[in-house]
Amino acid sequence: MAVRSQSARTGLSPAVAAQVVLGAGFLAHLVVVEVLFAGAGAGKNSVLTVAKFFALHAASIMMLQLVLVARLPWLDRRIGMDRLTVWHRWTGFTLAWTVLTHATLVVLGYAVLYSMPVTATFLSLAGVIASLLGMCAAAIILAMAVASLRYARRRMRYETWHALHIGLYLAVLLALIHQGLEGTTFASSPAARAYWWTVWTLVLLAFLTGRIVLPIWRNAHHRFRVAAVEPESDDVVSVYVTGRHLHRLDARAGQFFIWRFPTHNGWWQANPFSLSAAPDGRTLRLTAKAVGTTSAGLRRLPVGAPAFLEGPYGAFTALHRTREATLLIAGGVGITPIRAMLEESTGPAVVLYRVHSMDDAVLLRELQWLAGERGAQLHVLAGRTGSGNPPFAPFEPANLRGLVPDIADRDVYVCGPPAMTDAVLRSLRELGVPRGQVHAERFSLA
Ligand SMILES: Cc1cc2nc3c(=O)[nH]c(=O)nc-3n(C[C@H](O)[C@H](O)[C@H](O)COP(=O)(O)OP(=O)(O)OC[C@H]3O[C@@H](n4cnc5c(N)ncnc54)[C@H](O)[C@@H]3O)c2cc1C
Repeated sequence: MAVRSQSARTGLSPAVAAQVVLGAGFLAHLVVVEVLFAGAGAGKNSVLTVAKFFALHAASIMMLQLVLVARLPWLDRRIGMDRLTVWHRWTGFTLAWTVLTHATLVVLGYAVLYSMPVTATFLSLAGVIASLLGMCAAAIILAMAVASLRYARRRMRYETWHALHIGLYLAVLLALIHQGLEGTTFASSPAARAYWWTVWTLVLLAFLTGRIVLPIWRNAHHRFRVAAVEPESDDVVSVYVTGRHLHRLDARAGQFFIWRFPTHNGWWQANPFSLSAAPDGRTLRLTAKAVGTTSAGLRRLPVGAPAFLEGPYGAFTALHRTREATLLIAGGVGITPIRAMLEESTGPAVVLYRVHSMDDAVLLRELQWLAGERGAQLHVLAGRTGSGNPPFAPFEPANLRGLVPDIADRDVYVCGPPAMTDAVLRSLRELGVPRGQVHAERFSLA
């Protein structure tokens, strides 16, 4: 298999290779920043020197933040948007603390320097445009950090939280102007200035390319539109999207797109759905369970409606395979990427499809047909967990091993509700399946 030979050649899995590149790039940047800081001389007093140190690191973390959500295809395919957004979330909190420390030290530093009370110092700094812009950027970053705390995030609609998040772009702009007006370390020499602004330019270019240029270019090139809408059950529907030159779209089974149907839902409604069939160069298919207004409304999409797609995204693909044999585990609508992967699978495959009742087993006929074609085993595990005697618990380690005795020699792909996914991952650990062979898609971004 191509992936196997790639890992064998480099000795690193694609995910680890991408993490090494990202980590090494950031560390190298930090080393340059420390050298610049050391060479730039002290600030007006020791507190302001430390404040400057935090400022440089806040800006560097901000750069990293943008790269993590730039949706660069090379990184996304190897690390996955789910993991990148988790890292983005944690570096976001680190950024908020670093910015808060920088701002506090600046006020304290000037209060010491001019022997003024802290409040008066704060107010007089707010009267200087460069500081005021920095304060506004800091306020937006801190407000967003609070809104991202689990307690607040859970009580907010996805769209509200996303709209608030867009305010961060204003914070980046204000922070950039603040750096241009205030920055002394990277203005200490022409080389330092050139380095600093080159890195910022590269980061902004990466972000704009991944978030704006690539999606606009892809949609202009492919001109996606709805080709068919087919109900799969009372609350699940499949939407087929076609377009020009789809064979040139570098999508893989297991990946997802962020779909917009602007004439149907408006531009602001953008929802991630996995491909439920392997891309064949002619159509892309999503299969969605109705959980809210957008997913429920897909049933009424008119044929011919334009679609705007961002993607393909995600690392839940055969790129990460390390073994010839696979075990594909799906729960409920988590069958969508699993169904697509079965279609693309090579080597011995076992599919476990967990549903409450056989009526919930959408796409079952397709799965049975594909399993027959590929020589794969398909087990539909229907029932309520804990019901019956002995209690129904298909993902308990012993039961899982009973179904798939050679489980430790397989790559395992899991996609289902959070509780099921967690139970499967626990059992895989107990059964000694190496971490590198376990791949999970959670249908949620941090
Ligand atoms: C990578 C990924 C792949 C997915 N694949 C499928 C699939 O193949 N089939 C399927 O039925 N469901 C899939 N989902 C879940 C699907 O995206 C949500 O059910 C859908 O967006 C709900 O939208 P709604 O407006 O109908 O409901 P709402 O009530 O508005 O949303 C329900 C919940 O869905 C989540 N959500 C909504 N919009 C977004 C968004 N833009 N980005 C991230 N999360 C959002 C939020 O957590 C929200 O609370 C996937 C999710 C992700 C992250």
